[in-house]
Amino acid sequence: MSDQTILEVKDLKKYFSIGKKQLVHAVDGVSFRLDRGKTLGLVGESGCGKSTCARTIIRMYDVTGGSIVLDGTDITNMNQKELKPLRRKMQMIFQDPYASLNARMTVRDIIAEPLIAHNVVKNKAESTDLVYAMLDQVGLTKEHANRYAHEFSGGQRQRVGIARALILQPELVICDEPISALDVSIQAQVINLLKDFQEEKGVSYLFIAHDLSMVRYVSDDVGVMYLGQLVEMAESDEIYQHPLHPYTKGLLGSIPIANPALARQKKKSSIEGDIPSPIHPPTGCRFHTRCPYAKPECSQAAAPLKDVGGGHMVACHLY
Ligand code: SF4
Repeated sequence: MSDQTILEVKDLKKYFSIGKKQLVHAVDGVSFRLDRGKTLGLVGESGCGKSTCARTIIRMYDVTGGSIVLDGTDITNMNQKELKPLRRKMQMIFQDPYASLNARMTVRDIIAEPLIAHNVVKNKAESTDLVYAMLDQVGLTKEHANRYAHEFSGGQRQRVGIARALILQPELVICDEPISALDVSIQAQVINLLKDFQEEKGVSYLFIAHDLSMVRYVSDDVGVMYLGQLVEMAESDEIYQHPLHPYTKGLLGSIPIANPALARQKKKSSIEGDIPSPIHPPTGCRFHTRCPYAKPECSQAAAPLKDVGGGHMVACHLY
């Protein structure tokens, strides 16, 4: 692992037991590396395992298999006490800022809480200047500090969630669909805020989203997940200009397009059918039940994720 790497995930697995010896294979062998100051977007349909992957990396869940190395430290099997000092380095921004903010705390207390928990300051009074500076950075004012979460709009609440995540100056922020619950007009503002902070502080983002157009704008690299596995990964522009995996092509075909002629042409490549159950994932390539190019061998063996040139990785027997 080079000094440039902030996060390295190898063959990560997260299964959930749902009784009667049945397992949900939510994340099943995901590997990637994220460098300092960079953003990796993870995309896929809902149920593809991208959020579970993020929550396993931040160790909200125990790990079933594989490894997670944060800034050179293996955190795979650390308990919560061991993880506590490392939480300063790794923070999370949630999809629903309303649910993730304590309704009984003022914004000032919400943002100050991590500072006190990590002994950056001794008490609330000492945190005031830092909290006001952070509010200013996320486009709020100190007048907002004594209000409660329900008094804010969705966009403002997400700014509070971002302020809380960034106040410790983490090196890695896991953004779990941070703009999905926001109006389109607010989404760009929040994205710009995250990008500004990255330019200023060199923070890295793992950015989970199903909105492909926004992921392109925000990410250096993009990984596409299907049924708990990465099926394609490349630099952001490369994956949008030259998608290889049939699933990625299908996802890109489902992006709404203003030009009707282009939209008709793209629609032909949209994906048919529903995502199969992660309890009994299909054998071989997991996409074979929906893939228009499936060959007999596709249901027998999965193609490994391999570099087909210039760091463009794809898992498909066509390549
Ligand atoms: Fe389709 Fe086969 Fe490629 Fe899977 S391996 S995406 S089924 S062509």
